[in-house]
Amino acid sequence: MVTTHNLGFPRIGAQRELKFALEAYWNGQASQDDLAAVGATLRHRHWQGQSFLDLVPVGDFSFYDQVLDMSFMLGNVPVRAQHQPDNTLDAYFRVARGRSANDSDCGCVHAAEMTKWFDTNYHYIVPEFSAATGFALDASRLLDQLEEARRLGVNGKPVIIGPVTYLWLGKAKDGSDKLALLPRLLPAYVALFEELARHGVEWVQVDEPILVTELASQWREAFVTAYDAFKGAQLKLLLTTYFGQLRENLDLACTLPVHGLHLDATLARDEIGQVIERLGPDKVLSLGVINGRNIWKTDLHATLEWLEPLHRQLEERLWIAPSCSLLHVPVDLECEEELDRDIRSWLAFARQKLDELQLLAQALNKGRVAVQEALVANHAAVERRRGSPRVHNQAVQAAVAAIDASAGERSEPYEQRATRQAALLQLPAYPTTTIGSFPQTAAIRQARSRFRRGELDEASYKTHMQSEIALCVREQEALGLDVLVHGEAERNDMVEYFGEQLEGFAFSQFGWVQSYGSRCVKPPILFGDISRPRPMTVEWASYAQSLTSKPMKGMLTGPVTMLNWSFVRDDQPRSSTCRQLALAIRGEVLDLERAGVRVIQIDEAALREGLPLRRSEWDAYLEWAVEAFRIAANGVRGETQIHTHMCYSEFNDIIGAIAKMDADVITIETSRSDMQLLEAFEGFDYPNQIGPGVYDIHSPNVPGQDQIVQLMRKAAERIPSGRLWINPDCGLKTRRWEEVLPALRNMVEAAKTLRAG
Ligand code: GLN
Ligand code: ZN
Repeated sequence: MVTTHNLGFPRIGAQRELKFALEAYWNGQASQDDLAAVGATLRHRHWQGQSFLDLVPVGDFSFYDQVLDMSFMLGNVPVRAQHQPDNTLDAYFRVARGRSANDSDCGCVHAAEMTKWFDTNYHYIVPEFSAATGFALDASRLLDQLEEARRLGVNGKPVIIGPVTYLWLGKAKDGSDKLALLPRLLPAYVALFEELARHGVEWVQVDEPILVTELASQWREAFVTAYDAFKGAQLKLLLTTYFGQLRENLDLACTLPVHGLHLDATLARDEIGQVIERLGPDKVLSLGVINGRNIWKTDLHATLEWLEPLHRQLEERLWIAPSCSLLHVPVDLECEEELDRDIRSWLAFARQKLDELQLLAQALNKGRVAVQEALVANHAAVERRRGSPRVHNQAVQAAVAAIDASAGERSEPYEQRATRQAALLQLPAYPTTTIGSFPQTAAIRQARSRFRRGELDEASYKTHMQSEIALCVREQEALGLDVLVHGEAERNDMVEYFGEQLEGFAFSQFGWVQSYGSRCVKPPILFGDISRPRPMTVEWASYAQSLTSKPMKGMLTGPVTMLNWSFVRDDQPRSSTCRQLALAIRGEVLDLERAGVRVIQIDEAALREGLPLRRSEWDAYLEWAVEAFRIAANGVRGETQIHTHMCYSEFNDIIGAIAKMDADVITIETSRSDMQLLEAFEGFDYPNQIGPGVYDIHSPNVPGQDQIVQLMRKAAERIPSGRLWINPDCGLKTRRWEEVLPALRNMVEAAKTLRAG
């Protein structure tokens, strides 16, 4: 018999119940008991929905983040949040979200850093370490949840983050060696395993996903030390890896003294044979056979073809599960009432993925005939998708095949283009601009949603948006900005807006995935060949340009960002999908140019986050990502100025690729780093123009003129001033006009001061 289990279930709720409960609590509209009750309801519902599994994850539920939960369990709470007058949950939220000094009853506590969980769009709270960090186990949260599960008759398997990954995820705030904390950390884990064993736990899932990354030797050694220390544990450890292949860590992972190993079989299927060999005759092998990172139905026939022989070989020692926690997919496809029926039949969200797992288990345990009907239905859906004319578009494929190297080349080198552009645009030194969006007021959002619901007809909607654009242009002219934008009033989201106008994208109603805390995103579903039936932005851009004699920037989202922020197809390489997106954007760029738009910005906010986990794969990714950008951007004439924008500031390791994009101007986030981050550009002798953000748009603070001048002077020490632009760090859509106007006024004044020398 094969054993089934799950690594983690989304906790946000099919209708984002947890989000709303958290926000109500934070706003003071609900009590802690109310919040606890919603948490309990969700846990119960999710456990009940998983009760057919042999082992159900416990401890995966979190009020904010599983890494922060781990920090609290290990007693690693930042000093600034300890000794709060109130209870643990508030201290916990204080670390997660910070607390400003304005709150009357306590001092200011700044939030812990947050960063991306491996190559997902989930953000975890970075554990903080120092040479003095100590650990003390408090397993109460986990034990309570185990008890709760047991009362419901659920066979719980606690899920924790392993000690080596836990240290790896954190940051030593004092620059000390965090790995030196291992000897202090291990006793807390030993104590945890003792507690769990006392509570009758048989298996613990110990997540060590860093085993799929390139590890320095001391980290590999840390694994040996750590798991040797757990040898005496009176329960069984399932060493759990996901998001990639083990490769050079395969031996290490297979030989650690644990009772089982989980492998992401969607990405590391080639390693299974070797793993079985190295694992020895006693350990359990758990295979993550259902993809926990996408929303496609599994091809159950194809999976059974390779799984059945493994089952015969391993028998009881084979477990099956999703590849990783289902945290990264939406909860339930059943909620989707508006999705096209065809497309819907190709999809599986978390609940459906577990159904697939159960089908696989039944087919393995009782033979395929036992689930014949379901297998036939699955096969039919998979085949329908494979052959669907909605997925395959000959014209797109032909156009992509016809792309040759020249498509990505500008007609002339940067120096020549720059001269032409300067002559045409007549910009002053230190030109000022913004990143694209202006405040999305309640009126704007209301008009958009009324239009969406059909309560506002197209003509009225258009008039409304035009008046917003006109207002935005007037304000920018009054401020004296040099290159204007239309303000993006008509856009809800920078990917969705384009996805909705392209063929090949679909949108769910409830396909929410947790990004951090209560924040969720609803990634578009890119299901088919991408084409652009008609221009997407030309009308708005032309209208905006008609209102001013200043250059108006056309505003687009780049192909790599569209790819990285969507659920994309699994039937062709990401690079191919990206090329299709690039071609569609290229068409839009050329249409804008034809309409007289002289400056076009192509945002690539998510280029960096698409970097593979292993450095050895970075070059390959950057190669096709940069090529996609170039295909999108570089069809224009020399005098058309291409901008790109990236809202981060770590460029050191990708500066070569950024330079290859060859945008005439790049605007980046730098204000919080005091311009230090321009170092990468300086060191590389970056040849084109740069707009280092001069103020942080995430904060309501209005930057002073002097402060901006100072920052730009620092920038000019690193980059020749003739190549510098002045702009905010990012778009202004989350700010209010009352904040935006004085900030931009100071920015424009700062530019004047700088020009005066
Ligand atoms: N043009 C977009 C805006 O201003 C860019 C957003 C982003 O970089 N995330 O909103
Ligand atoms: Zn940005």
